[in-house]
Amino acid sequence: MNIKAKELSKIYGSGDNQVIALDKANLEIAANDFISIMGPSGSGKSTLLHLLSGLDKPTSGNLIYDGRDIYRFTDRELSAFRRQRIGFIFQQFNLLPVLTAKENIIMPLLLDKKQPDERYLKQLTDLLGISSRLSHLPHELSGGQQQRVAIARALIAQPDIIFADEPTGNLDSKSGGEVVEILKDIRIKMGKTLVVITHDNNIAGMAERQFVIVDGILREVAAK
Ligand code: ADP
Ligand code: MG
Repeated sequence: MNIKAKELSKIYGSGDNQVIALDKANLEIAANDFISIMGPSGSGKSTLLHLLSGLDKPTSGNLIYDGRDIYRFTDRELSAFRRQRIGFIFQQFNLLPVLTAKENIIMPLLLDKKQPDERYLKQLTDLLGISSRLSHLPHELSGGQQQRVAIARALIAQPDIIFADEPTGNLDSKSGGEVVEILKDIRIKMGKTLVVITHDNNIAGMAERQFVIVDGILREVAAK
């Protein structure tokens, strides 16, 4: 999948309260890219990731997925497109507290009235080391396990691309390290494209293309 973001801007508020959260960001993402984005708090990282993944719409600019401008989709079309083609991992996991790990993982499929492929589910949860935790509720799991459940949910529909917004930000360094290893594995073994926001120099250093964002201005700083 080829993704082109053209002059993406997001402006919040108006007049004296106006905040330019993202200022004309341009970015092209090719299949199997591994991209990291770093920047200080409030610099526009989450705004950019939400726009790139269709979670939010820009004030101006376009986002083209394989030739299709996804902001022109209806809300319904966009939600379905996101569920089927895009995985998103949040810093706070965002699991539904009343659902078991397995129910959380397969939720995106159920919303599309699909049943999980049990073999793929098994393969995925084995890879993530959570196969024996599937009947637990999120609060019965450690932070690292909750994030691995969230990663399985992001992957269950077999999307082409995974966006992760500070995926290790709520984890101790050991579980954070495990999550990073898993993300690397997923990219290589499953051939996914990976776009990660991070505060961690080590994670950023693993990426093949490194971006920095400051005051809403995105620029590429290194490519391997
Ligand atoms: P980061 O993820 O880099 O910490 P964000 O993208 O969350 O930064 O925010 C960028 C800027 O936009 C900040 O100044 C933030 O306060 C502002 N902002 C983000 N979301 C909103 C919102 N919904 N309403 C108003 N301002 C917002
Ligand atoms: Mg953020």
